Amino acid sequence: QTALEQYDPQIYELIRQEEARQSGSIRLIPSENYVSRAVMMASSSCLTNKYAEGYPGKRYYEGQQVTDLIEKLAQDRAKELFKADHANVQPYSGSVANLAAYAALIEPGDTIMGMSLSHGGHLTHGWKVSLTSKFYNSVPYEVNTETGLLDYDAIRDLAKKHRPKIIISGATAYPRIIDFEIFGQIAKEVGAYLVSDIAHIAGLVVAGIHKSPVPYADVVSTTTHKTLRGPRGGLLLCKAEHAAKVDKAVFPGLQGGPHMHTLTAIAVAMAEANTPEFVAYATQVAKNAKAMATKLLEYGFKLVTGGTDNHLILIDLRNKQIPGKKLAKALDRARIVSNYNTVPGDPAPPFNPSGLRIGTPAITTRGMKEAEAEQIATFIRRVAEDIDNDSLIEQISKEVLLLCSQFPVPEHFIIPSRN
Ligand code: PLP
Repeated sequence: QTALEQYDPQIYELIRQEEARQSGSIRLIPSENYVSRAVMMASSSCLTNKYAEGYPGKRYYEGQQVTDLIEKLAQDRAKELFKADHANVQPYSGSVANLAAYAALIEPGDTIMGMSLSHGGHLTHGWKVSLTSKFYNSVPYEVNTETGLLDYDAIRDLAKKHRPKIIISGATAYPRIIDFEIFGQIAKEVGAYLVSDIAHIAGLVVAGIHKSPVPYADVVSTTTHKTLRGPRGGLLLCKAEHAAKVDKAVFPGLQGGPHMHTLTAIAVAMAEANTPEFVAYATQVAKNAKAMATKLLEYGFKLVTGGTDNHLILIDLRNKQIPGKKLAKALDRARIVSNYNTVPGDPAPPFNPSGLRIGTPAITTRGMKEAEAEQIATFIRRVAEDIDNDSLIEQISKEVLLLCSQFPVPEHFIIPSRN
């Protein structure tokens, strides 16, 4: 019996249920993954007990003999992996990392220009309900609603008109390559800093599937838990000239003590990502997304931008006359987990939008390849074509379970089991 099972059977049972849900469903949320057992163990280690305000060698508490070594290791591994001058591994999440990047470079009230959330940007890129739009004057840019693509000329014109202090490049729901070099040029032309948020694509960047923004951006922000396959956390990378400002913005600017257990697990994830196996994984993520997209197009689904270059696919369901939420809920009953999403120029409200966002990072960790990606596209078509047919959905959920049993979460990728 584990300690948890003994002392808190209720929570223990809920964790077991979640473990069963994760292994018994096809998880297509593009920001989710399965971490390795090594990452899981590091993040549930005794490092959770330690306060370490400050940075290695400059702490506000004693007892940092080990934490300093761990944080330094995490920093060095991040710097090596992303070829960056400086790394701060303390942000609690991608949202805090973004706010710290802005705080490091500009003053409250200054203008920021990021991608509109309804066109694929993140809340923290200056969306109206986010505090980032209260602290800063936000001028969002949009994609071309005809093509779904970033229009760099329009972004340049907008930047020239509003003269932002920061331009943010990066997205939550954009299926194509982002040209960070052009973003860098536009930022230079208008005297803005470039912050690149690679939360979604960090794993692809590491593997060379997506070009890195590190040479062009003043600060690069990312989460560590999506395609990068680490624990939930944030990471900032920057040029040496911004290092002190970035560190000060994270602590003491925004945060208190770093989550040392998470930093420890980030160090492990960085080592895992610096391997040929990880490059093969990330390459397969993109191949699987392409295979799934091609099949969906064959089935008459309309995809924003007409396809994908990365790990995610945004389906525009307007031609199928199915609301995104209705399809996401029906798929969930069939054990296929996705999320409804706005599409560029969506006439429907954000709580019931016209799109569905799916991605391949998690299924690829389970070892699924193009054939399975196509099979999943077929499941999606069958559900969409007969969405009110409960017995069909029940039948598909059984087929999904069978597929899941053929591709178990790899042994070293699961929560340590009872025995
Ligand atoms: N940046 C981007 C592009 C994201 O997609 C996300 C999360 O979805 C974040 C930042 C925020 O990360 P977190 O949820 O860890 O705060």
